Amino acid sequence: MTQGVVVGSGPNGLAAAITLAAAGVSVTVLEAAQTPGGGTRSGQVTVPGLLHDECSGFHPLATDNPFTRRFDLAAHGLRWALPPVQYAHPLDGGRGAAVHRSVTTTAQGLGVDGDRYARVFGPLTDRFDAIATEFLQPMLHLPRHPIALGRFGVLAAPPATWVGRLFSTDEAAALWAGVAAHAFHPLSTPLSSAIGAALGTAAHRFGWPVAVGGSQAIGASMMSLLTSLGGRVETGVTVSSLDDLGDPDIVLLDTAPRAAAAILGARQPPRIARAYRRYRHGPAAFQVAFAVRDGVPWSFAPARQAGTVHAVGDAAAVVTAEREVWHGRMPDEPFLLVGQQYLADRDRSVGDIHPVDVYAHVPAGFRGDARHQIIDQIERFAPGFRERIVATHIRATADITADNANYVAGDIITGANTPTQLIFRPRVAANPYATGVEGVYLCSAATPPGAGAHGMCGWHAARSALRHRGLLDALDRPSEPMAADLKRPR
Ligand SMILES: Cc1cc2nc3c(=O)[nH]c(=O)nc-3n(C[C@H](O)[C@H](O)[C@H](O)COP(=O)(O)OP(=O)(O)OC[C@H]3O[C@@H](n4cnc5c(N)ncnc54)[C@H](O)[C@@H]3O)c2cc1C
Repeated sequence: MTQGVVVGSGPNGLAAAITLAAAGVSVTVLEAAQTPGGGTRSGQVTVPGLLHDECSGFHPLATDNPFTRRFDLAAHGLRWALPPVQYAHPLDGGRGAAVHRSVTTTAQGLGVDGDRYARVFGPLTDRFDAIATEFLQPMLHLPRHPIALGRFGVLAAPPATWVGRLFSTDEAAALWAGVAAHAFHPLSTPLSSAIGAALGTAAHRFGWPVAVGGSQAIGASMMSLLTSLGGRVETGVTVSSLDDLGDPDIVLLDTAPRAAAAILGARQPPRIARAYRRYRHGPAAFQVAFAVRDGVPWSFAPARQAGTVHAVGDAAAVVTAEREVWHGRMPDEPFLLVGQQYLADRDRSVGDIHPVDVYAHVPAGFRGDARHQIIDQIERFAPGFRERIVATHIRATADITADNANYVAGDIITGANTPTQLIFRPRVAANPYATGVEGVYLCSAATPPGAGAHGMCGWHAARSALRHRGLLDALDRPSEPMAADLKRPR
């Protein structure tokens, strides 16, 4: 039987392991942390019983993609739930903008920019399944849907600041800048619209769902499925060299490229090792988990119903914040993502105390304490917030890296979204998953299609390994229990 080892149990490591196991490979996953799941861990870090997501909270690209269509995670306990409003962007004076599942409802809240918004996002939403098929894989491929992809490219290719000029109101411009800032990259660079275009459209097609029971349910369902296929996970094992692994036929590394180069050592061709060491990481996050009595009292009422709130100010403030952190400076007003997952998953709360998971975009390796800045900034858009805080739990930038080596210097998306790395990651290569060492593949978010707890990097990397060994047919053969899943939140 073919033997496989996966290093790292993030969603990509687990997706890779499941994909190998489904093709008949005997798989062991080795995980450095005591708890498996990588960026899908959750915990009770503030008040007993209150459930916080430690990393990923919202999963617009995880509910319906080739991996989740192939494998029935619902049969292993995974359920998705949507907040009433997908995301919101408050401004001063109780103004703001909000994104709903419906393009029409969203446009109705955008005043004179409503028509423009609907004309941009309506057609993309209608074609999103075809568009997502194209961008959820390595960019170097022959597109099956060139027209839909071309349409998407019109929005995705220009700098986000250019796209922002389509809108004349502060509200619509800020709404766009906020979703574009998920790229964690200056909004004035080419392709800086790509992530915002994808996530903004996905909000209408799928919503921004949370996993019921915390994002940990994603990892748990994947581990359950893996176990049912004969795979196993060992925790508390940090792999530092290929020699630690015995002699498996296939190795998949759910690690950052530099860590992969260290593990592969002299076996990796120097040219590829150099490319891995040059791989660029981006700015960092600073996290505060809050326990908040009665929730955050946002002045802009729709934000009280929104799963995610971008709390920073107008579009210009977003542009400044992202430019500053990219250049290594802490902005006066950092970009804040405020996660209110409990609005979709009420059992995460304890009575009237709710978990609110916030992170700020900060410079790579940030050593300061951003907690007071974060509280002040939320207070600006939600007066009275401070008095409602019952407990806090800080994960400073260094803590994030200590918990997960993939988040180099606090880079929670495992690699900067520079124009080059958006197209070619982790290096320019026909097969981005190949490490140059026979049988060894990179499968982390440093590979296409990039960050997110969607498993697609692991799916493609494992398929690449199976193809090389002539085992892909075994995976693609339809089998009754696995073909059953197609869960789309409506
Ligand atoms: C604060 C935060 C918020 C986020 N929000 C979202 C969100 O809302 N939606 C979303 O989709 N994504 C979000 N993300 C990003 C998402 O979590 C990651 O992109 C995703 O988890 C990447 O999956 P992965 O499998 O590539 O790596 P990871 O999930 O990072 O897992 C890698 C695993 O490998 C292990 N490992 C690393 N090196 C070794 C080694 N040498 N030996 C053994 N084990 C090793 C690590 O311990 C870790 O468990 C967020 C991340 C953070 C930190």
